[in-house]
Amino acid sequence: MERALFEKGISGWEQVTTLPKSFRTMLSERIPWMSLRESIVLESRKKDTKKAILECEDGSKIETVLMQNARGHWSICVSSQVGCAMGCTFCATGKMGFTRNLSTDEIVDQFRFWRSHLDTNLSSGEVGESRNSLISNVVFMGMGEPLANYDAVRDSIVLLLRSTSLGPTRITVSTVGLLPALRKLLADPLWPSVRLAISLHSADAESRKRLMPSSFDSFLDDLVTWTRLYFERNEERRRHLTFEYILLRGVNDREEDARKLLLFSRRVGKVRVNLIPYNSTANDYREMDEKEALRFLLTLKRGGVMATIRKAMGKDIAAACGQLVTRVLSRDRD
Ligand code: SAH
Ligand code: SF4
Repeated sequence: MERALFEKGISGWEQVTTLPKSFRTMLSERIPWMSLRESIVLESRKKDTKKAILECEDGSKIETVLMQNARGHWSICVSSQVGCAMGCTFCATGKMGFTRNLSTDEIVDQFRFWRSHLDTNLSSGEVGESRNSLISNVVFMGMGEPLANYDAVRDSIVLLLRSTSLGPTRITVSTVGLLPALRKLLADPLWPSVRLAISLHSADAESRKRLMPSSFDSFLDDLVTWTRLYFERNEERRRHLTFEYILLRGVNDREEDARKLLLFSRRVGKVRVNLIPYNSTANDYREMDEKEALRFLLTLKRGGVMATIRKAMGKDIAAACGQLVTRVLSRDRD
């Protein structure tokens, strides 16, 4: 039965012909095929990114993103909560506050939604240039803090690994750095060996606390201790841990900040740093220009840190983290 949920071309219980007819009818009456309903889908001008707002059964709205990657396959970005309690000052979801955790089904159904969307739209030539409908990567970088919804996130990953062709290195969980949950996953035999991205954004305790109210004085030291344990237990996963760093002009982008990040990365030992261009949400921060961002990157690279700058996608359809839902909600209110 579980497999049918992921089967291509099946869009309702009635079509699951491996089940007896009476059982299918009972299922259609009692269990919705999808826990989420399409509300809005927007496409970027380049047609390589789509964003959807999906409505949960209780009327809550979440967003999820589909992006074409270099090989013509697709990556999706999923939400793990309605809103977020962490209150990061640069994040549109953070400003919405927290409503509730998503269930395992609601997380997995974001994958199923895009699968079915691609199946329907690729055949009519409506999506991007690729005809390949393979979703090859899933990132937990939508609304919410995945590790604050630990069980449902873990169970949704286990389900995706069991029911799709995705391998663990094709799934990335991004976290604000919730240390109790990071410690828990170290000792959890059921936690799959997915990639982890830790949103660092500053290697200075005071400035990190200002940007991310969930941070605290000893966070950076505690994180170094955690990474040691993580690498001790999973040496082979060293490549699968990254630090994310949003570049905010005049806030965390100075030479001095790059050097602090460099020193911090050295303390952790070989780790990758991913620099993220800031996506303006409420004009409270400014994006760094490209030349300056490259200079920041160079400081890290010269110091021996593996660093990259993330390509920004789908800017014209309101990019990172909760922006789309926030705009639609405020439009609804107007
Ligand atoms: N709560 C998790 C995952 C969701 S946010 C986390 O914070 O990691 C996913 C990523 O988007 C995080 O690295 C977050 O810092 C980043 N992000 C949030 N708002 C952004 C913005 N306006 N511009 C660029 N990146 C942003
Ligand atoms: Fe929550 Fe992540 Fe946004 Fe911070 S950046 S408020 S943790 S969703």
